[in-house]
Amino acid sequence: MVQQSLTVLGATGSIGSSTLDLVARNKDKYAIEALTANKNVDELADLARRFKAKMAVIGQASLYLDLKAALSGSGIKVAAGDEGLVEAASRPVDITMAGIMGAAGLRPTLAAVKQGHRVALANKECLVAAGSLFMSEVSKYNTQLLPVDSEHSAIFQALDDSPKQNIEKIILTASGGPFRTFSLEQLNHVTPAQALKHPNWSMGRKITIDSATMMNKGLELIEALYLFPVDPEQLDIVIHPQSIIHSLVSYVDGSVIAQLGAPDMRTPIAYSLSWPERIKTPVEQLDLAKIASLSFEAPDETRFPAIRLARQAMLQGGNMPAIMNAANEIAVESFLEGKLSFQEIPTFCERVIEAVQVQMGDKSPVSVEEVLVIDHSTRIMAQSSIIM
Ligand code: NAD
Ligand code: MG
Repeated sequence: MVQQSLTVLGATGSIGSSTLDLVARNKDKYAIEALTANKNVDELADLARRFKAKMAVIGQASLYLDLKAALSGSGIKVAAGDEGLVEAASRPVDITMAGIMGAAGLRPTLAAVKQGHRVALANKECLVAAGSLFMSEVSKYNTQLLPVDSEHSAIFQALDDSPKQNIEKIILTASGGPFRTFSLEQLNHVTPAQALKHPNWSMGRKITIDSATMMNKGLELIEALYLFPVDPEQLDIVIHPQSIIHSLVSYVDGSVIAQLGAPDMRTPIAYSLSWPERIKTPVEQLDLAKIASLSFEAPDETRFPAIRLARQAMLQGGNMPAIMNAANEIAVESFLEGKLSFQEIPTFCERVIEAVQVQMGDKSPVSVEEVLVIDHSTRIMAQSSIIM
């Protein structure tokens, strides 16, 4: 394998750190071009020096001088703000890891797509908010889009380029999160601290809360619809508390192909970097005898209504997925700040969707700029209803 250049968008996050851990172990294979972060100047500067990045960008424009000072004498180019993120993502590289959290990743990830090389996509929110527009840019620029989300990496591996007519169903597995066995009554009293304790995965805060509400699985349904050649009715969810089977593809002849592995994001990240080859990772090999049993159950949309809401957004399309995504980002933040209860998260999203659609209608955005307007307006509407 010749050495490949790699930009990591969201380098200080959970996906970013796991990616850089693999890079550190495979210095002969990957060299860092650019690293970005939102506001952690010190960590970004340390990483940029350590990985000899050519450019480092901080998302918060006001932190430009701090980053410049932290990297003085290093020869590393420094930029800040939205335009800086796009500039970093536009520098020619073999692979971009799209690891920014939320719709904030949309513009930089699209800038990476426009290079026509490889984009390893962790940032599922950009597919939820702008699915078909995003995918048409992927085909226009002939970009290799490699899924990083563990379920989608599993499906990608189990599908292995099978034609649409061979596929019966795609089954996404879900751990069920920390509240899988909680009653509706118990869900009334859960705290941010409890919700932040995922039983199997260690991840960023937003996706951890999304896993607790199961909105994450809903976002993943929409993500799968755009990534794979299936119709919405062919997408199923099954709860699998051990998080060993990462997803399955069921074929028309009755065969079901699954991908298994320890719940460690370094496996799907490694595959998104090395595909079609494989590289070694420090991830523990599965010991099936030790795991002993794998169990499955149907998802409960009464206790976890976010799944139903996201499915509705997937079926309705138009601007609903983009609004839902933005509303959910604000709802999660508000829950973490103690301004919204756990069970209010999906109902709040529903109310915001309704209010935004009364103002803007429900038509599909026809450009990325329109998606950004929908995202922005939804955030304003959502913020003001939190204050009320
Ligand atoms: P995280 O919060 O740990 O990290 C997010 C990164 O994005 C950080 O580097 C942060 O500085 C940057 N960032 C956040 N807001 C930004 C903004 N407004 N502008 C610029 N940069 C910004 O999140 P994460 O868990 O690493 O998740 C990243 C993405 O990957 C999300 O879309 C998530 O759904 C997806 N994902 C994560 C995991 C996981 O295991 N963590 C698994 C599957 C998918
Ligand atoms: Mg996932």
